[in-house]
Amino acid sequence: MPKQNSVSRHIVLTSHPSRVGPKPIPIKWGASDPMERGPVIATLTKQAHRNVIGTHSGSYAVYRALAVARGVLQSDHRADLTNTSPVEHIGPHPSWFDLEKIVSVDPFGAIVGEVFTSYYEQGYDIRPTIAITKAHINMPELQEAVAKGRLTIDGKIMKSGGDLVVTKAAIEPVWYLPGIAKRFQITEGDLRRALFEQTGGMFPELVTRSDLEVFLPPIGGVTVYILGDIAAITDPNKPLAVRVHDECNGSDVFGSDICTCRPYLVHGIEVCVQTAQEGGAGVIVYCRKEGRALGEVTKFLVYNARKRQEGGDRADAYFERTECVAGVQDMRFQELMPDVLHWLGITRIDRMVSMSNMKYNAITEAGIEIVERIPIPEDLIPQDARVEIEAKKAAGYYTTGEVLDSNGLGSVKGRALTD
Ligand SMILES: [Zn+2]
Repeated sequence: MPKQNSVSRHIVLTSHPSRVGPKPIPIKWGASDPMERGPVIATLTKQAHRNVIGTHSGSYAVYRALAVARGVLQSDHRADLTNTSPVEHIGPHPSWFDLEKIVSVDPFGAIVGEVFTSYYEQGYDIRPTIAITKAHINMPELQEAVAKGRLTIDGKIMKSGGDLVVTKAAIEPVWYLPGIAKRFQITEGDLRRALFEQTGGMFPELVTRSDLEVFLPPIGGVTVYILGDIAAITDPNKPLAVRVHDECNGSDVFGSDICTCRPYLVHGIEVCVQTAQEGGAGVIVYCRKEGRALGEVTKFLVYNARKRQEGGDRADAYFERTECVAGVQDMRFQELMPDVLHWLGITRIDRMVSMSNMKYNAITEAGIEIVERIPIPEDLIPQDARVEIEAKKAAGYYTTGEVLDSNGLGSVKGRALTD
């Protein structure tokens, strides 16, 4: 018989609070003193320390489980965080301590190593949920913008060859469940029950541990790209450009022509560079919400349904085809999106590079002013993406141009699957 470690064979359930021993450190969401707020402790090595539901790394926790199961990762591995601290400081901002403003991000997530040192000394395994680094990025369309004179190389924000110097932050979601429920105007009980049931019962604590109010959901996070001076983001005298972009792998990475995602993203970066070069800052918020958070399988099924329907792919049936397959038109829930803008301390956006009414409404209802909205330039819209853009404009997307009626929408056609 293979030798078995009796400790590792023992399955530890966290589904009910311990009747004995110390209670976990409470989290007082919204408190301004980090020690009063309390650290987010999602460690799996010391069950008694856990004060949240779920674990770190979002959906990648499943790969971590595989690595442990295969024996290539020690289940009690503790991250060595030497030299991992943020390269730029963000916050604290007043919005960090406002229960109405941030409920889906841990504002202290990047600086746990600074603010919770005493807990580290006591042996607590506290991990950052935000990491901030620097990079050079480059996209071929930006070199074209330089060649056409729309962008200039200044040697600081944009270097020779079109390299952009950026600060970027990766953010894992940390949900304060009472705040999320309030944001969606539902009860916390209904929220917990749906999260429990719709994940196949993955997190029993959602229904058994009402004492734990913070959940690390197994979903994709957000990446923020910042161009220009970080201090300009919150300086009322400096201009700020923002694009909030929801992931579209097919277009963003592979250049698919069925939508406007990559061209609009690159245009957003271009506006960010221009604004940074004027002494302001530009912010790209990239959210992992593939296919309106319906996932790529649903998205590709919808593409087929659109292109095979009677009359072919048409703008007047664009949303209907999505709803037939997914049951809804959209599951991105932009209501949570402004949290990351509040984490950055944004109170005014001078140039909002987005036509989405859902994003606009969410941001302005969150108390952030939007001065100007910048639609995608007509010449950047791929031919096969006309169906999408005309349907969206007719549904309320911002435009300075014409909005088609139902007859007009019926005549906007996309390419057939066989072409
Ligand atoms: Zn797209």
